[in-house]
Order: sequence, then structure tokens, then C-alpha cells
Amino acid sequence: MPDVIIVGAGPTGVMLASELRLHGVEVLLLERELEPSPMVRAQGIHARTIEIMEQRGMLDRLLPQGQVHPTDRFFAGIQPSEPVRLDTTHPYVLGIPQPEVEKVLMERAVELGVEVRRGCEVVGVHEGRDGAGVELVGGERLQARFVVGCDGGRSTVRKALGIEFAGEPATSGWILGEVELTATTEEVSAITKRVRETHKGFGIVPRDGGVFSVVTPADPPSDDTPPPTIDELRAQLTAYAGSDLGAHSPRWLSRFGDATRLAEHYRRGSVLIAGDAAHVHPPQGGQGLNLGIQDAFNLGWKLAAAVRGWSPRGLLDTYESERRPVAAEVLTLTRAQALLQSAEPGPRAVRSLLAELMELPGVHRHLIDKVTSLGIWYAVGEGELLGQRSRDIAFTGGRRLYPLLRSGRGVLVDQTGSLTVSGWHDRVDVLAERSDELDPPAVLLRPDGHIVWVGDDESDLEEALLRWFGASLSGPAAANGA
Ligand SMILES: Cc1cc2nc3c(=O)[nH]c(=O)nc-3n(C[C@H](O)[C@H](O)[C@H](O)COP(=O)(O)OP(=O)(O)OC[C@H]3O[C@@H](n4cnc5c(N)ncnc54)[C@H](O)[C@@H]3O)c2cc1C
Repeated sequence: MPDVIIVGAGPTGVMLASELRLHGVEVLLLERELEPSPMVRAQGIHARTIEIMEQRGMLDRLLPQGQVHPTDRFFAGIQPSEPVRLDTTHPYVLGIPQPEVEKVLMERAVELGVEVRRGCEVVGVHEGRDGAGVELVGGERLQARFVVGCDGGRSTVRKALGIEFAGEPATSGWILGEVELTATTEEVSAITKRVRETHKGFGIVPRDGGVFSVVTPADPPSDDTPPPTIDELRAQLTAYAGSDLGAHSPRWLSRFGDATRLAEHYRRGSVLIAGDAAHVHPPQGGQGLNLGIQDAFNLGWKLAAAVRGWSPRGLLDTYESERRPVAAEVLTLTRAQALLQSAEPGPRAVRSLLAELMELPGVHRHLIDKVTSLGIWYAVGEGELLGQRSRDIAFTGGRRLYPLLRSGRGVLVDQTGSLTVSGWHDRVDVLAERSDELDPPAVLLRPDGHIVWVGDDESDLEEALLRWFGASLSGPAAANGA
């Protein structure tokens, strides 16, 4: 029996699977589709996700496949006169199609020993006394200690748990796909330019091998709207461009809308949800995939602690209390951006006023810190650095911080050289080196790189270790109260 069953091998599920494997957790990843999806939804990753990729050693695989773009226009496409200065060693957007990101995530998951079963559709979830389980199409039942639904916006797991998905249904919709066209590239470019003057949601971009990426407005979708057909795409192209441009031979077609919803809870007993299963929002600003990967990064080590038996009481609940407010903020941010990109006179007036405000010191940075997730701060205690993620820093000996986080363990950076984590050495590494980029004498980082303690007092440090990493090996048995 696996420790954890993850439903859905999208970016959230695969990232979570790898995070769990870093701690030796047995993971079974179930995916409905037989093959990886070719659909290019996300077009890139933001600074915090890039940092996470570096912290887990995947950035070297992603960088050669991507293109580096400035983050400046990433709030509603507004371009202030001064470039934004972000507090990170990766102050850019990495343009890279979602299937490429998913490929790298999956390669690493397989290297780490994740068991992946494709062609397995989960149709039910059940909770038992000692854990939870799933039912597959055909009736097979599988059991584990925990089940995590990473099964996208229409999540079967979330619905099976009866968790409310409160929010607004889609009011706008689009069809997205890759097709061949009989129209020439020049004709397509002239038509696209003309249609975009009145409909910003229309776009056609040439890809390799005579294939074009197409997006065109369509009716707002609901949960049971069937996938689009080539005839529907042709009809929408005709409606907006005056011609179907000879669209044929679709490589893939999909539809999406601007529904904005947030799950009421992220956990019920031994079943949790993450990624799009927990939140959906308009694609403006490009945050959904980033949010899902960051959910997984927050949840992985906490769920591993529960499985491995060292979880301090209440740790797993901090997944929801930390990540749900982050998602609520992304919903606000994307909804605002969707409105600001409307061609209506009211939103245009707000947009021009906001563009003026974004020239004031700090305003542009504040908004881009939100879009990139660099500004995320968890309520772990009082103090300037507490709850923030640590930026990458260099040590005087030549080492850097982020590679030290690769194993997924906690890290104590001790510039005093006198602190110890002896009872926690199985969960926390120590680096006793100095850095010109670090003010406090010592900091304790969780496995997700967030700072949970600063200071130089040994007994104060022990309290923080107990709170975040459970009982010491030499102390009384762990509270083990996931
Ligand atoms: C047009 C568009 C553009 C976007 N652009 C961006 C962007 O630029 N940046 C960004 O960050 N995000 C973007 N997003 C959002 C991003 O694509 C999603 O947020 C992201 O894919 C969510 O990942 P996930 O793993 O949570 O869910 P998904 O990617 O939806 O993966 C869920 C997986 O679960 C599987 N599954 C579903 N049900 C079951 C079941 N019952 N049993 C087994 N398996 C199941 C599915 O087959 C799928 O593989 C965009 C989205 C759209 C539509």
C-alpha cells in the first residue's frame, strides 16, 4: 500500500509527488490520460517558481528551453517608465510552454522513484479509519494513508468530498488550439492585427511545421460543456475574422473561461486538494501553474512529516491556513487584471489612473511582487524576516544557499558558529558560514525556504525546531498530531 495516492499528473500532482519522495514517502500517482497533454496553456513561469526550480535542482534543465523576458508588463500589461527591481537572483519571467515544464517535472519524479499509473480515472474517494482510498473506473479500489486531489478545476476529489467551490461562473470564454491553416502567414498576420483592435482575446501565432496557435472568443464554458470541435473553431473564426482561414487538422483543441472560484477547505481528514482543484481564476498575469507548484511545495514536506511520524501538532493544517489566503489574493489580482484589460470606457479610465499610480515609488514593485509571488509572507511570528522566503545568498566560503535546499530538509544558517540542531539532525542541515548578504546572526529555514526563526539563542532555537520539525530525537516521543 502506498503512503500517498495523488490523483492527477498535472504540474501540481507531479511536483507534490517529488517533494514527498525527497522524504522517502511511497507515492502512487494516478492519471486519467494515457499520454502527457500537448496543450500549451501556461506560457511561462514567474520568479518565485524559478527560485523553487533552482532550490530543487531543476532550473538547469528548464533554462535552455526557455526565453528570458522582463517582468515589467506583467500587471495587466501596464508598462511604467522605470523598470521594476525585484529582490531575487532571478528577476525575469521564463517563457516556456507548459508541456516542457511538465516534462521536466515528470522526469525528476520518475528519477526519484514515483510510481505513475496512466489511464487510471478516479471516480470516487472514500475515507477510512486508517487513511483514505480511491475507486477507479471499473471498480478497482486502492488504499493509502492520504489521498491528494491534484485533478484540476473540475476535480472529482473535491466534488466527492462535498467541498464547496464558491465563486462566480465564467462570463467569458475562449477556444484555444493548434491547427493548420490554408491562409498564408501574411494574411493571418494582417487579419489578426485588425481583429485585435476590437477583440484583445483573439490571437493567431505561427508555430513550427505550418501549425498555428489560435485563440478566439467563444461562449462562456460550464463544467459540462463538451470539448470544442474543429467546426466550432471554424465558426468562431468566421464570426470574428470574417473567414475560417481554412482551419483544419487540429493538433489539439481546448476551451477555457474566466470562472473565479476558491475551495472552502483544502483538507478533510486524510484527503487534501491542491492546484486548480482548489482554485480557478482568469489566466491574466499567468499565475495558475505557478500557484499549483507553490501549493505542492508548501504541502509536500508537511504531508511527508505526517507520514514519517515527526509532524508537530497542527503542522498539516498550516497548509490550508497559509495557502488559501494566497489563492484568495491571486483571485483578486487576476480578476482585477481581467477587468483592466476590458475595452469598455469605465475599466479604461481606471486603467489610465492606475498607470499613473504605478509611476509612484513602490507601487509597481508591490504589484509585481504579488504577480511573481516573491511578496508571499506566512504568519509564523512577529519580526521583520519571519515568514518570508529567503532570497538566494552567497557565503564567504563561496557556497550559495539555494543548492543547500535541494534535499528538501530544513536548514539552519549559523553565522555565530555556536548553535546546534543535534536532536533534529535527521531533518535539519546546518551551514555554519558567514554571508555579507545576511544581517541576523542565524536563521532557520523550513524545507520550502521560508524563514521561521532568527536570532542567536540556543533555547529559543530549540522551541522553533520543536514547533516546525517536531520532537527532538533525544527528547520525548513526537507529538505526531498531523
Ligand atoms: C489559456 C490558459 C492560459 C494559461 N496561462 C497560464 C500561464 O501563463 N501561467 C500559469 O502559471 N498558468 C497559466 N494557466 C493555468 C495553468 O494551466 C493551470 O493553472 C495548471 O495547469 C494547473 O495545474 P494542475 O496540476 O493543478 O491541474 P491540471 O493541469 O488541470 O492537471 C490535472 C490533471 O489531473 C488529471 N485528472 C483530472 N481528473 C482526473 C481523475 N478523475 N482521475 C485521474 N486523473 C484526473 C488530468 O488529466 C490532468 O492531467 C493557463 C490556463 C489557461 C486555460
